Amino acid sequence: MNDKIWLSSPHMGGNELKYVHDAFDANWVAPLGPNVNGFESDIESFLKADVKVAVLSAGTAALHLALIECGVGYGDEVICQSMTFSASANPIAYQGAIPVFVDSEPNTWNMCPNHLREAIRDRFSKGKKPKAIIVVHLYGMPAKMDEILAVAKEFDIPVIEDAAEALGSTYKGTACGTFGRFGVLSFNGNKIITTSGGGALVCHSQEDKDKAVFLSTQARDEAPHYQHSYIGYNYRMSNICAGIGRGQMEVLADRVQARRKMHDFYVELFKDVDGVSVFSEPSTDYFANHWLSAILIDPVVVGRTREDLRLTFLNDNIESRPLWKPMHLQPVFAEAPYYGENVAETLFDNGLCLPSGSNLTDAETERIKTVIRQFFNKG
Ligand SMILES: *Cc1c(COP(=O)(O)O)cnc(C)c1O
Repeated sequence: MNDKIWLSSPHMGGNELKYVHDAFDANWVAPLGPNVNGFESDIESFLKADVKVAVLSAGTAALHLALIECGVGYGDEVICQSMTFSASANPIAYQGAIPVFVDSEPNTWNMCPNHLREAIRDRFSKGKKPKAIIVVHLYGMPAKMDEILAVAKEFDIPVIEDAAEALGSTYKGTACGTFGRFGVLSFNGNKIITTSGGGALVCHSQEDKDKAVFLSTQARDEAPHYQHSYIGYNYRMSNICAGIGRGQMEVLADRVQARRKMHDFYVELFKDVDGVSVFSEPSTDYFANHWLSAILIDPVVVGRTREDLRLTFLNDNIESRPLWKPMHLQPVFAEAPYYGENVAETLFDNGLCLPSGSNLTDAETERIKTVIRQFFNKG
């Protein structure tokens, strides 16, 4: 059996252990310390925006705190892109709130601004003003932010930007994660950089950041004893994980370049294959980190489906994966309202994510190429 080729695996830069050793040497083996502060300021510099970043135990935790800071509570409604990973929507349920799902548009695969407006109008007509809008930059592709922010402004609803997959992506030159009232990053093991597990909340004021840190460290009031006026969470990132993050920040620009190179590799590979399109930026306004490269297979033209290709890859011990199954089709969210057509559904039916790691070797990309050329009868 060939060695396994992963969809996306951790790729250390080399200096991560140095920061972790520093943490041990100084006995900062806790959810505070120099690596936590250093990692936060590294991210702030990278985003090139006037933001304050709080690093947390997970991207999911960051989404949860963003909802809390937007005042989302029991029975409130929150609009969420349907086509996404479940972690975008689950924190809505943590708050006892109700997700309202919105379809994607075909250019960016992200939230459709027209269906967003339709959804908000309809919720208003039912006497409900949505408390927040969660928009996602899927696979690192920036959403249509101008249009989405315009709709959000029209109805005065805060935007939470799930940029978990989009660290290093920009829209019209501005970093994804810095457009919304809050931005969310993830450093989970399969993301473009990793802290083994972790996330960050991108804030636009020191006050918002302070509140996130307060809530993520069990919401202790200022007192010599343990005094609490709010429900707290144990969501802060440890100084050990932040050390890994500092090492990873040194190579983030390289990782973006390498992922984009994988995308170019697939563009070249499929350029003479009818019925297959590689997910690419709709215009130069969009700069994707191409966290995962993805294709759409037209089964009518190709005569075979994305599942046929997935199984062919699997047979060669190569991991590939269908696109995210839309949330409005998930059993757990069967009751939630949905606005849209079947764009997300069609993408799910025909889309496949391909191995996209920044650490794939030439021998591995050759193996991928051989499987694809054979599958599409290109010798
Ligand atoms: C990974 C991911 C998350 C969650 O991040 P974790 O750090 O794994 O909690 C949220 N949203 C999207 C779109 C993701 O891909």
